[in-house]
Amino acid sequence: MEQTRVRLERDGDIAVIVIDNPPINAGSAAVREGLMAAIATVDSDDSLQAAVLIGAGTTFIAGSDLREFGQPLAEPQLPAVIKAIEDCGKPVVAALHGAALGGGFELALGCDARVAAPGTVVGLPEVTLGIIPGAGGTQRLPRIVGIPRAIAMICSGERVGSAAALAAGLIDAEVRGELRTAAVTHARHLAGRKNRLRDHAVPAADARTIADASAAALKAGRRRPQVQAAIDAIVATATVDIEDGLADERAVFQRLRLGREAYALRHQFFAERDSARHPSLDAARPRDIRRIAVIGAGTMGSGIAIAALDAGYEVLLLEQEAAALERGASRIHEHYDGRVNSGKVQAAVAAACEARLSTSLDWPRIAEAELVIEAVFEEMGAKQQVFQRIDALARPGAVLASNTSYLDLDAIAAATSRPQDVIGLHFFSPAHVMKLMEVVRGKASSADALATGLAIGRRLKKLPVLTGNAFGFVGNRLYAAYRRQCEFMIEEGAAPQQVDAALEAFGFAMGPFAVADLSGLDIAWRMRKAQAESHKSERDPAARYVQIADRLCEAGRLGRKTGAGYYRYPEGASRPQVDPAVAELIAKARSDKGITPRELGSEEIQRRVMLTLVNEAALLLAEGVAERATDVDVVLVNGYGFPRWEGGPVFWARERGAEALRADLDEWALLSGPGFVRGDVRHLLEVKA
Ligand code: NAD
Repeated sequence: MEQTRVRLERDGDIAVIVIDNPPINAGSAAVREGLMAAIATVDSDDSLQAAVLIGAGTTFIAGSDLREFGQPLAEPQLPAVIKAIEDCGKPVVAALHGAALGGGFELALGCDARVAAPGTVVGLPEVTLGIIPGAGGTQRLPRIVGIPRAIAMICSGERVGSAAALAAGLIDAEVRGELRTAAVTHARHLAGRKNRLRDHAVPAADARTIADASAAALKAGRRRPQVQAAIDAIVATATVDIEDGLADERAVFQRLRLGREAYALRHQFFAERDSARHPSLDAARPRDIRRIAVIGAGTMGSGIAIAALDAGYEVLLLEQEAAALERGASRIHEHYDGRVNSGKVQAAVAAACEARLSTSLDWPRIAEAELVIEAVFEEMGAKQQVFQRIDALARPGAVLASNTSYLDLDAIAAATSRPQDVIGLHFFSPAHVMKLMEVVRGKASSADALATGLAIGRRLKKLPVLTGNAFGFVGNRLYAAYRRQCEFMIEEGAAPQQVDAALEAFGFAMGPFAVADLSGLDIAWRMRKAQAESHKSERDPAARYVQIADRLCEAGRLGRKTGAGYYRYPEGASRPQVDPAVAELIAKARSDKGITPRELGSEEIQRRVMLTLVNEAALLLAEGVAERATDVDVVLVNGYGFPRWEGGPVFWARERGAEALRADLDEWALLSGPGFVRGDVRHLLEVKA
């Protein structure tokens, strides 16, 4: 028998139903059962006039127990609990604090009133998990905010803070004093009166506004099926009786929750939750960071500075060059200006962020910072020089981080007298937008320096993933393998635009060749040349090497910035244009190698990409560069535009199963020829705690 998760207390004639299911009061089967029993007591006990529903600890029901969603749901299910509240002869007041999300907010919408402590967030994020609200959210929310606003809120999974929730009528009162006492008073006032949302009419809205809201939601939601399903359910409230609406909503919810997309999104949810958990660092205490010095005010340095300012840190931006510092400072200022002008940030908040920034050419000021993040040119000599200087100036115990994308962190750390304090903090561009952050473990990095990196990542609202120190860490190493595979395919017969189209159809935000043009082909070109020159990482002469990218660069086609790369970018054109000159260049590269081009279909292109990523992920795990299989999926989805609803290569691998995967890789090894290193798929399939 599971422990009781709900208890009924009394405050005179008011029942106080306390949900106590730590840590987040998730709405599990035991909670639902407890609620049913408590509501039955309230209904039948004549000494009780009304009830308050409240969460113990730090939150109301912050969501459902997602582990239940892949299985048959245990009775009683949430709609039955809400029905019992609606059918109860006495009013029930939901007292919210912390978060009331998903099923938690649906339960609150089933009550007769909602009061909330300041700072509470409410919302229906189901769509982000591949489903729609299944306990009346799509039917009751429009009865408060109207159809267009309900579409915007449900389809984006928006979390609404208590002040905005009060303004929109999502809660009836924001209470400053003690929540429980205020809710009991509210319930006492209501005694004798029910106020069920199901009895409210849906506010009228004109068809144009509804169509606009739907179109905007579909576009923002990448036209995923659950977004359309949510819109349909919400729009139906205008014409369909609530009883039928609830039944239809439930049926769609049940179908979607068992669908592949919902499984994939739950997989991502758990992968993201786990990526920040590192048992090996449990004993380590993050160091106390208040001021961050960022060295280098270029693209990355200014983005990192913005992320740190947004998170409330004091930031000192340092440069070697006055003009570069000036450019960085104006980039940051323009960013905040833009946010204020577009209404995304209040002027006072932006001003407070900017006030925490100081810019300087005076390096001894590094001593003010507890964390130093270096973001200078990607060149070992430059990085080592900068770290020597940092070492001479930084205070003892400061964490010294490099934002290098590829370089050897240990060689950077060796330039200092304190390699134990050196870690990698690899941000992605734009650094104030992208969620992913790799925290790189050097051979001497101490546990508390790494724990500080992870803690900073979370504070910056990033998804920090711990990686080993190896060329390209996890993300760029996966991406390099992916890109190499796509180059193989154009050498074999596919056109770049065909590969891009197949992968965009799969769900990548952008195809690899369009991405290459956007970021510039010269960076990878320089790196390949450096690699070829460096004795240590000399290319395996037998390994397959595609020369097309080199030849494009030699022809001055460095991507968008030169008006041409894999595509042409004539002035004024909004989209990349296919270029016959590229087709010629590719045809020549093929004939130089004696390759007869053949057709490659979208399915083959997609499958080869998945197998490449799976194989590389297995290698990264075997080498200890990736610590946890699911981290690979977190990295690709949050840093490289891999479609979240496909789960990631590890999700895909687990779905295929060991046997099929091994057969795939056998075939794959034959096709890939010399230079192919096969990974052991066992590493991907092991589910680690
Ligand atoms: P950038 O050229 O835009 O900026 C580098 C800045 O560093 C310049 O303003 C330069 O004046 C300054 N600088 C150079 N040497 C310096 C020194 N000795 N002392 C102080 N300042 C110095 O480069 P970026 O794109 O911002 O890249 C910076 C780092 O971030 C690189 O290591 C790069 O690999 C990494 N990175 C870049 C991206 C990206 O997409 N741009 C993504 C992830 C990581």
